[in-house]
Amino acid sequence: MIEDGLQYSPRCEKREMIDIAKCQITHYPAEVLAGRAKPVEKIDDNILRLVEKMKDIMLENKGVGLAAPQAGVPLRLFIISLDGTRENIKVFINPIVTPLGELDTFDEGCLSVPGIFTKIKRYKRCKVTATDLDGKLFIEEGEGLYSRALQHEFDHIEGVTIVSRMGEAAKIAHRRQLKKLTQQHEEKQKP
Ligand SMILES: [Zn+2]
Repeated sequence: MIEDGLQYSPRCEKREMIDIAKCQITHYPAEVLAGRAKPVEKIDDNILRLVEKMKDIMLENKGVGLAAPQAGVPLRLFIISLDGTRENIKVFINPIVTPLGELDTFDEGCLSVPGIFTKIKRYKRCKVTATDLDGKLFIEEGEGLYSRALQHEFDHIEGVTIVSRMGEAAKIAHRRQLKKLTQQHEEKQKP
């Protein structure tokens, strides 16, 4: 599931302009959070503007990471800043995250699933291969919070949120908030 990120044929893909002004934080159960995002084909002005907008959204919401689908754009791209500062934001384009070592359980939240903080199992360490904004490929190993953030954001571009990773007991414990988010989403869908 994780290793297939590079299998992609650009043939049928038509490049579309992203309407940056319309980018805003998306909440569960928005459709854009549930699908597999598409690779970034070219790092052009459009992508640079999207990254700036994603930084604004992440910092406004006091997050440490944000994936493009959380800004309403289904592209394989995310940003992370473990201390929540703009200067330490790192950009990951078309990333592949490979888990390493053992699992660990820790409380986790998500800007797209507000009001829920729950225990999620993640690998203690992982490897990431990605492209930076200059188009350079880089490989890193992460552990602790960095490993957790990489796996969380990678989940987003695979269409997975903490809701799908929550156990049944946690789903029951948070059922009111999940229902509220679903109702808010349905309200937004109304013409
Ligand atoms: Zn998230």
